[in-house]
Amino acid sequence: MMHMKIYVERPLWDSFQFFNTIRSFFKFDVEFEEYKFKDPHFLAYIRIRSPDKREFYDPFPIEIENERRGLIKGVIYDGVELLKHFCFNIDVSNPAVLITERLIATFGEDGRYHLRMIVMGPAAIISLKGVLYAPAKPLQYYLMHSFGFDDEIEVRVDKVLKMLLLQFYAYFKYNEIFCEKEECMLHNCHTTEEIKKVTGLCEKHRKMLKNVVNLSPLSSKKK
Ligand SMILES: [Zn+2]
Repeated sequence: MMHMKIYVERPLWDSFQFFNTIRSFFKFDVEFEEYKFKDPHFLAYIRIRSPDKREFYDPFPIEIENERRGLIKGVIYDGVELLKHFCFNIDVSNPAVLITERLIATFGEDGRYHLRMIVMGPAAIISLKGVLYAPAKPLQYYLMHSFGFDDEIEVRVDKVLKMLLLQFYAYFKYNEIFCEKEECMLHNCHTTEEIKKVTGLCEKHRKMLKNVVNLSPLSSKKK
């Protein structure tokens, strides 16, 4: 029977608040496990060095040491490389997801890195920090706030987590990539305003997914 395995990277595991929310969202079993990357050299190697170049360098010893000690504030990783590495260490015959606090980005066709909430392949990596920072904010936000990287951003993390997990499930099971309907949980949201417009599943995806998720209306709560 289908189940999903969700790895939560240490040290996020200790403060992770969404075990029950996620378990009650899916109708199949969701198993959680604490995860730790074992190769600090590799993590330091796949750090993004420049926003417009996809090049990797042998890291300095201090960078490897900082990885070992978890001193990674402000570090952004190449999401594709991190996902490959993760997939190599786990079973991908069922949907498997890593939830991390690391910031991840992927190199776009425009020749620049873009911060991501999720990177998908045989498995997926969801960045909780990416959930907060990756969706571009409306212009008004920039006008109203002097914007720093530590500012609190109005996003319902549990809602976005459900959306991203379901997007990966649909991709894993049906090869379905994103929905054009803006109210649908499979919509590829780029802004917090778009996230707020999501209320549930569209007709097509409700048919496809009604047997795997409990659709308590997302719209009943604010944001
Ligand atoms: Zn849809």
